[in-house]
Amino acid sequence: MDILNFIGGMHLPAIENGWLDNIEPATGLPYGRLPRSGAADVERAMEAAQAAYPIWSSTSVEERAACLNRLADRIAEHFDELVAAESRDNGKPVSLAAHVDIPRAEKNLRFYASAAQQYLTEAGMAAGAHQLHYVHRKPLGTVGVISPWNLPLYLFTWKVAPALAMGNCVIGKPSEITPATAFLMSQWINESGFPPGSFNIVHGLGNEVGEALVTHPRIKAISFTGGTATGRHIARAVAGTSKKTTFELGGKNPAIIFEDCDFDLTLRTVLRSGFANQGQICLCSSRFLIHESIYDRFRDALVEKVSAMRPGDPSLPETKMGAVASAEHLAKIQSFVAQARELGGTILCGGQATHPEGDRCRQGHFMQPTIIEGLSPTCEVNQQEIFGPVVTLQPFATEEEAISLANGTEYGLACTIWTENLRRAHRVAARIDSGIAWVNCWLERDLRMPFGGVKSSGAGREGGTESLRFFTEPQNVCIQIT
Ligand code: NAD
Repeated sequence: MDILNFIGGMHLPAIENGWLDNIEPATGLPYGRLPRSGAADVERAMEAAQAAYPIWSSTSVEERAACLNRLADRIAEHFDELVAAESRDNGKPVSLAAHVDIPRAEKNLRFYASAAQQYLTEAGMAAGAHQLHYVHRKPLGTVGVISPWNLPLYLFTWKVAPALAMGNCVIGKPSEITPATAFLMSQWINESGFPPGSFNIVHGLGNEVGEALVTHPRIKAISFTGGTATGRHIARAVAGTSKKTTFELGGKNPAIIFEDCDFDLTLRTVLRSGFANQGQICLCSSRFLIHESIYDRFRDALVEKVSAMRPGDPSLPETKMGAVASAEHLAKIQSFVAQARELGGTILCGGQATHPEGDRCRQGHFMQPTIIEGLSPTCEVNQQEIFGPVVTLQPFATEEEAISLANGTEYGLACTIWTENLRRAHRVAARIDSGIAWVNCWLERDLRMPFGGVKSSGAGREGGTESLRFFTEPQNVCIQIT
């Protein structure tokens, strides 16, 4: 598959830098290439976006919503193709792409098509009814959207949809590791009715085309999802400018398992929250904090289940666990496991790179699901995001200790709380530093709710009206009445 940029309604290769290989994680082999775009391609996209802006920003919200809905229709029509492409590009099982990634990409577009049409701004009459104030929300202009590889089309559309719905022109940059589904989607942008230049996609490396996008003087806002180090780098790059930014970054999410939890429900769900997408969801639980009275029983039950999980060829419908995203990422995961061993941690199961039986995946990037216990809460393995199928277990004695352990990292994205005690659930949720707290569930999302992280997990919120606000500038209009 030769992936191309989508600029000004046309598919184009990079102007200067040639191509990058696109690797299939399950085989470890290149299966296509993508443009290695740079500043010249961003400039070309910016010119196209600037030309389209007067048209797109003055298009009615109903028509903009219709364009998003038509694009969502194309996603639905090409469902199987997109599922296969997402799985091949990322290494995730087709079953996951079919249940999570592609349905959510379609839903993102439809949700923001609807949300933008229902969005009302504030208005207020001054005391004595002498003046009427209202808020006029204007699009920002041309905005940049940068997304990661773990939920490729899902997170790309999550950002693109509200930006476009509110009348902005977009230059999007998907991850260079998973460019395929954004490229496929770009083939349906023109026929969905978007004017050429309103929605552009440039492919390539973060430190080349990503950097050029972020620092372009005419980019009004950057919506970024990715690693904390990259987010900090971008924050430094835009410091001193008036660009708006939102950062959705890494996590080190605790699952707090109290002695009064529903044991079977908890076990079943933390298996997913720890290992879904090979642990490569920013919201995955990676630190399991377990009350000491049930620690041994829960650990043994968990180890039994996880030991039975085997990574398989992601293209097979029965596969539940696929490949990790790249050779470099596998090496990073392995280095954390090696560190855990050196620190005296016990590897209760897994701990090794592996590959499924058969020839196809022999050189693929697979990691056994891994559980580690016996590490200090302050060691790097318990502090840094691993972003793989690796969880650690830590016992706690009191609610106070559980909260302190949960909050004891620089991250604050998500937590799960497992208890049948309603008062405790509210009490603990309120004291956890995280953007989202799930009680007795995981990954349940309502797109109207604010989404984001605290501490090193992000700055700003997306979701619902938060995104509609982010992608607009409020102007207070005041009218003298009397
Ligand atoms: P990454 O930071 O390496 O890359 C993310 C994106 O940023 C890619 O498109 C990349 O090309 C681009 N990029 C890299 N350097 C850049 C630069 N200098 N300027 C501009 N763009 C640049 O992240 P990743 O490895 O693709 O994704 C995994 C990370 O994303 C994990 O840390 C995970 O927790 C995080 N994540 C967070 C959320 C969330 O909602 N908080 C969701 C998914 C993933």
